[in-house]
Amino acid sequence: MLDTLPQQSPDALLALIKMYAADERADKIDLGVGVYRTDDGATPVFAAIKAAETKLVNEQDSKSYLGPEGDTGFVDALMPYIFGASAPVSDRIEGMQTPGGTGAVRLAVAVARKAGVERVHLGTPSWPNHAQILSDIPINAVFFDHATDDGRANIDQLLGVIAAAGKGDAVLLHGCCHNPTGIDYSNAEWDAIADAFSRSEALPILDLAYQGLGSGLEKDAYGLRRVLGAVPEALIAYSCDKNFGLYRDRVGALYVMAENAAQLGPIMSNLNALARASWSMPPDHGAAAVRLVLRDEKLTQMWLDELASMRARIADVRAQMAAAGQIGKLDLTALARQHGLFSMLDLTKEQIDRLRSDHGVYMAGSGRINVAGLHSGNIANFVNALKDVAG
Ligand code: PMP
Repeated sequence: MLDTLPQQSPDALLALIKMYAADERADKIDLGVGVYRTDDGATPVFAAIKAAETKLVNEQDSKSYLGPEGDTGFVDALMPYIFGASAPVSDRIEGMQTPGGTGAVRLAVAVARKAGVERVHLGTPSWPNHAQILSDIPINAVFFDHATDDGRANIDQLLGVIAAAGKGDAVLLHGCCHNPTGIDYSNAEWDAIADAFSRSEALPILDLAYQGLGSGLEKDAYGLRRVLGAVPEALIAYSCDKNFGLYRDRVGALYVMAENAAQLGPIMSNLNALARASWSMPPDHGAAAVRLVLRDEKLTQMWLDELASMRARIADVRAQMAAAGQIGKLDLTALARQHGLFSMLDLTKEQIDRLRSDHGVYMAGSGRINVAGLHSGNIANFVNALKDVAG
């Protein structure tokens, strides 16, 4: 029976990682996989996480089961960062730990479907796994353009989508650091989005996977908080895999804001049941380390400092790239207006292939680059390579 399964195309980014590893050129440049890198090209474990892990190893006295909701101390400790220290809606919000932001998005869509949502509206391009999750659940995906041709957020389309949406519709939005475009909504645009949601019955699903890597922990949550202030209910998928550098430890959470506190119990019981039937319980280690960081003032400050230095480096790389200005039709000044790890370069397939074959530059076939793959040692080479293929 298993022989009826058709071959699936391999994950393009994973294939790129293999090609990069096999390239023997010393000056090759990896702009593919989406992880933060230091100016030395490393993706180190955060010092605050290392300290928390040491504490965990020394103090953890049991690895007995917790439950589908995972580490509730972790879930609660994150809430002030996501929803604000004095969130007026907090008695209507509850969460549970998930295996990464991926698990949170999946659970959000699954519970939305169970509650009667029939369509999920998604701006494209998006993180490819968004569409894959929608198709796998399955639920109807309805796509709109995330960006305009001149590289701005297509706010008019989004406002139209929200206005036309009704019961049975959900709209999935990136909270900040849009993957793959880096094109975020301005605060004024978020105000308009929140206003549109307040007049629509659509359910917002907010995916916050890069808080702190854009403009700051508070500023990156502006849109999410504005939307939550305008609607009766919403689902919030959160990842700690980038902003705590925990990638492979799979650390995330799903929060639900209900119309009133009494509804939280039944909703959470459904989330628990869905989680139980898929992964049963989330992996503990990374979330426990985050809890220890957030419950210790010194470790929290170490984390905040490290996150601030990452954010500053990403902004610095973006400014350096923008200084290269226009290369042929390629407008690099846009990179300075965008946020987070990713941007899209308007390159043809041939140009992307030539960057790889002639210059050892590895990027996704879509033209997405991981900005953090650039550093003082390779930016000039990358700009010269762009001049060669696109100038
Ligand atoms: N949402 C978005 C927009 C993402 O880019 C990612 C990660 N690339 C995730 C969710 C999931 O992150 P993870 O499962 O690694 O925590």
